[in-house]
Amino acid sequence: MKPWIHFLRGFVLKVLYPVLMLVGAFLKSKKADFQAYIVRLNNLLVMRDSFYPKKILLLLPHCIQNSKCDVRLTFDVYKCRRCGKCKIKDLIELAETYHISIAIATGGTIARKVVKEVKPDAIVAVACERDLSSGIVDTYPIPVIGILNERPFGPCIDTTVCLKSVEDAIKWFINRQEKQQ
Ligand code: SF4
Repeated sequence: MKPWIHFLRGFVLKVLYPVLMLVGAFLKSKKADFQAYIVRLNNLLVMRDSFYPKKILLLLPHCIQNSKCDVRLTFDVYKCRRCGKCKIKDLIELAETYHISIAIATGGTIARKVVKEVKPDAIVAVACERDLSSGIVDTYPIPVIGILNERPFGPCIDTTVCLKSVEDAIKWFINRQEKQQ
């Protein structure tokens, strides 16, 4: 890990983020933009860093599961029947292809629990601006590439994500692994 990146990420996540959230408390219409800015800035810094992750975790929000699906995935995403009605099927296939861990979190507390249990060296996280930015702050110094979800039906229901962006992020970390070998 490059010390100056470590320092800059710390500054962005522990100083700039709370300041922007304070400003966002007054400028509510700008809060999501500030959170997205923190996610972009963090991604930029992570992708300039040098580290060699052994264990990669793909962390997904619960709202990406089809709202009519009755399978409980929180503790075991592999219970998915892979019917293809939501992107969970494709995301599991990505995790299998690249031999990485995958989990679904219903909120910040579960996400922290998953990270504590899996102990990843790097995380590809999908979520909304709020959960992604706060999750990246919570898991610092673990390198996280954050990908914003898409919300065609509004927030927190039947959300989706660009699979290519997720795959590119996984490949970026895998590439780091290979550089070590
Ligand atoms: S792909 Fe999996 S999670 Fe999505 S609706 Fe089908 S069974 Fe449920």
